Amino acid sequence: MITCSNCETAQFLQITQSRVYFEDGEMINEISETYECTLCGATGQYIYDEDRDTEDVTGDVELTTERPKHA
Ligand SMILES: [Zn+2]
Repeated sequence: MITCSNCETAQFLQITQSRVYFEDGEMINEISETYECTLCGATGQYIYDEDRDTEDVTGDVELTTERPKHA
C-alpha cells in the first residue's frame, strides 16, 4: 500500500490522477497514479507494471510491503 513518507500513514492520501496506458489500441498493463497528502501537501507517484509485476514510487510517498510479494 502507499503511505505518505512525511506522515507515515495512508490516511490522508488521495489519488489526484490515475492513468492506464494504451499502445496501438491495446491496453498495456501499466498503471500510473498520482497521490497527494491532504495533511502535509506532499505529492508522489505510483507506477505499477503488471506485465513485469513491478511496482515503483517516486516523490514523497512510500510503498509498504504489508502483503507478501510472490516471487
Ligand atoms: Zn503527509
